[in-house]
Amino acid sequence: MAAEATATTLVSHSTGAEWLKRYSTSLMGVFGTPQRVLVRGAGCLVWDADGKEYLDLLGGIAVNALGHAHPFVTSVISSQLATLGHVSNFFTSPTQIALAEKLLALTHAPAGSKVFFTNSGTEAVEAAFKLARRNGASPDGTTGKRTKIIALEGAFHGRTMGALALTAKEAYRAPFEPLPGGVVHIPFGDVAALEAAIDETVAAVFLEPIQGEAGVRPLPPGYLKAAREATTKAGALLIMDEVQTGIGRTGKWLATEDAGIVPDAITLAKGLGGGFPIGALLTFGEQTSSLLSAGQHGTTFGGNPVATAAALATLHAIESQRVLENVAAVGEYLRTGLAAVDGVTEVRGEGLLIGFDLDAEVAPAVVTAGLNAGFIVNSPGPRTIRLAPPLVLTNDQAGTFLAALPAILQTAKDAQ
Ligand SMILES: *Cc1c(COP(=O)(O)O)cnc(C)c1O
Repeated sequence: MAAEATATTLVSHSTGAEWLKRYSTSLMGVFGTPQRVLVRGAGCLVWDADGKEYLDLLGGIAVNALGHAHPFVTSVISSQLATLGHVSNFFTSPTQIALAEKLLALTHAPAGSKVFFTNSGTEAVEAAFKLARRNGASPDGTTGKRTKIIALEGAFHGRTMGALALTAKEAYRAPFEPLPGGVVHIPFGDVAALEAAIDETVAAVFLEPIQGEAGVRPLPPGYLKAAREATTKAGALLIMDEVQTGIGRTGKWLATEDAGIVPDAITLAKGLGGGFPIGALLTFGEQTSSLLSAGQHGTTFGGNPVATAAALATLHAIESQRVLENVAAVGEYLRTGLAAVDGVTEVRGEGLLIGFDLDAEVAPAVVTAGLNAGFIVNSPGPRTIRLAPPLVLTNDQAGTFLAALPAILQTAKDAQ
């Protein structure tokens, strides 16, 4: 076999339309019909099977933090894979340990804090769910267990059974009931509702600092502080799901960085590997970190040398390329520009996690018109558009979208 082999030599060549026909006969239908067949990316640009170029303003849903095919990340992943790719968790590796240390340092984790690595966001949430089940329990789990977990209306925490129990959307939940029990959803951003719901039977409160899937909805100011006080008083864990908002997305390492609180645990994933799958559960402090003991949780692939090298490379590039400053500046430029576009009624979000509402229920048509005009965006709701571009998006690139948006909105309205 040629040492220079690439995946493209392993597949036949087709047009986009032919690929999609093959897709529909061989792939499970859970995602509907994919919008395009993508074959290549560089920075904030991607190209489809028919050679059309797109500015990627979704970044694989907040995943491609450094854009596509970032040279440094690609090089680190390739060389790690060529050195040692997988070892199982009977063993560890330098990149795994170094990444855990780096994450604890970046998040200013208190002494005794620990990390558990996963392959995805939902797995990080599953680990957090199991952590919550251990709160207050005796070592064998038979007594003292707190049975309730609180999450918010509009919450999205993933699609596996435990994470799904925390996710609010009825259409996602109903087909799979019964879900792991004890989860109650309370009104979004309502401190009084939280204080009324919390007592000594509550194991944990799960919060997203900004609800991404609900249309980029930030928690109101003061909510996190109130949640920290209420959970501390009741002995419940405060678990922040930063799977979407973490790793520079908001212009800070964590969206909760300036909220003046220290949570008990944090979940991370999407941007962490710069496009390579990896997630993490961070447990803050000695007590929380010892809730899950030897044998109580595990993973085959989680924390493998390649994934942890990818994340180390991503964090290094974010630091050395001064990416956080770029996120703040370009995010501000985009939000200001969007607010001035006719037909945009509200702009929300922080850094490069942006949601904006339209004056008509045309968001899905805007996604289609955007694609035809060479822009990838997403519609989490009938009148809401979400942008979560690579964190290295330039002002010039953002400007091309702002300039094209009025015509895209008009095309979407005409198509209704
Ligand atoms: C995407 C997301 C998840 C699930 O992550 P997957 O990698 O898709 O399993 C969980 N929580 C939040 C806040 C997310 O945005």
